[in-house]
Amino acid sequence: MTQEDLAEIMFPDVSETISDIEKKYPKRNLDEGCEVTRFAPSPTGFVHMGSLLSAFEDFKAAKDTNGIFYLRIEDTDSERTVENGIEGIIRDLANFDIVPDEGMISEKESIGAYGPYIQSQRKNIYHVYAKDLVRRGLAYPCFCSKEDLDETRTIQELNKERIGYYGSYAKCRCLTCKEAIDKIKNGEKYVVRLKSPGNFNNKIILDDRVRGKIEFPENDQDIVIIKSTDQLPTYHFAHAVDDHLMQTTTVMRGEEWIPSYPIHHQLFEVLGFKEPRYAHLGLVMKIDENGVRRKLSKRKDPEASVNFYHEKGIPMEATKLYLMTIANSNFEEWFLNNQHGKLSDFKMDFSKMSESGTLFDVEKLYNITKNYISRMTSEELYDAALPWMKEYDCELYELMLKYEDYTKKIFSIERYQDKPRKDYSCFKDIRNGIWYMYDELYTNLNYEFQNITDKQEIEKILTLYFDKYYDINDDKETWFNKMKMMCDELGYASNMKDYKKNKENYKGSVADISTVIRVSMTTKSITPDLYEILKLLGKERIQKRISRFKEN
Ligand code: GLU
Repeated sequence: MTQEDLAEIMFPDVSETISDIEKKYPKRNLDEGCEVTRFAPSPTGFVHMGSLLSAFEDFKAAKDTNGIFYLRIEDTDSERTVENGIEGIIRDLANFDIVPDEGMISEKESIGAYGPYIQSQRKNIYHVYAKDLVRRGLAYPCFCSKEDLDETRTIQELNKERIGYYGSYAKCRCLTCKEAIDKIKNGEKYVVRLKSPGNFNNKIILDDRVRGKIEFPENDQDIVIIKSTDQLPTYHFAHAVDDHLMQTTTVMRGEEWIPSYPIHHQLFEVLGFKEPRYAHLGLVMKIDENGVRRKLSKRKDPEASVNFYHEKGIPMEATKLYLMTIANSNFEEWFLNNQHGKLSDFKMDFSKMSESGTLFDVEKLYNITKNYISRMTSEELYDAALPWMKEYDCELYELMLKYEDYTKKIFSIERYQDKPRKDYSCFKDIRNGIWYMYDELYTNLNYEFQNITDKQEIEKILTLYFDKYYDINDDKETWFNKMKMMCDELGYASNMKDYKKNKENYKGSVADISTVIRVSMTTKSITPDLYEILKLLGKERIQKRISRFKEN
């Protein structure tokens, strides 16, 4: 009985050869230097911040070099598979403008010539390569039960030896072809293991694009390549076969895979594949409320979920700027010097990625968003916020639609100036900044008066101001001078310096007067420019608000 017989009995359905498969994956027609990258999640239904960042970096590396970015679904682990889990991933990526050139585009469909892009549909392909390894004496069936493996482990622990299935501990590697075939014929369950040609005393080197050179002992573990339950490959084997056939140039993945590199290096070697480059990405971390630096947690941290950004209405472009900021340490400075530059003008640099973990800081993201929103035109803000309102704030959405022009003017207040107002960190903040401008929302009022609280005095101020002094056509200077004139008339100080020196001579100051006007018109003691607000509100609304205040 030969290896050939063993291979045949293990994979009776495999009739294709390696060269049949290789023909279906012709060399990609790309120029030198173009990166082929992939995002390879399990179909869990959503993407969290850590994986979004890596998808963003994969995408960016491909786009920077006119290469290809593809989405491959790794569904060989049924525990990490949820129903309709692919759609959710595609949606989350699309929300950040990350649209693959190839790969899955819905639960069942894909685009691109290097598929299938879902691992469960590639079973026959893995089997062709596994069968070839068996034929060449580089893989074998292993019949060890869980109990056998536990027993080996206990012995290794007792002897203080390396744990694993290797060397003399790899019992099934010594079975003859006949013994193995007999067991298979007997219906014994088995996994397929690599017959590692490695020697633990040899050294190999990973030249990581983020971390530089890392030395490892060579792999000598007979790792499982095909599982017994479903005959699907393990991550290791699928990674080698898929990234070879799909011609990935740089594998970007979490740092938790670094220790597996010796296995992957060996698999590429025994399979005769050219090894891709690797970029092992640091974990996404945060500093928690206690000042402790820890991994951003899907369970504990709402900001780890990408829905968080969607629900808050953080403009996608701003999030992308933030992702680039944490992806590359030199981006922030570049952006400072290229305020109007596009993300596509900046080329990502692997050597500027963090090895020790990327610090995710929501406050910093909000700062970026505030700047970003403050630089939009009022039309742009209106157009960007409207779809968000439609989904999350119907009431304001209706008003924004009804009063399109008025709303854009509201957005213009303190926008077109050297230092524009930066009060929106997300679309959700807009309501709080503008609700009082719409009569429809100007109900259930709770006025935040400060120094002057006497109702009669307030009414007196309002009546005098709006009857005698206020003129909507005044320019800002005249407007303010008139406010001062009214102060003099009512016994309030029009000059703050004077007021501070001789408080006893006055009932209050011009600041108190303007607060009364501001609060009675908006309910708030702090708002953007009052002159602009009054001008926008216009006579009718102002009149209504005075009456409303009197009734209150
Ligand atoms: N499916 C693997 C994971 O989610 C992908 C790792 C890789 O990108 O190679 O960890």
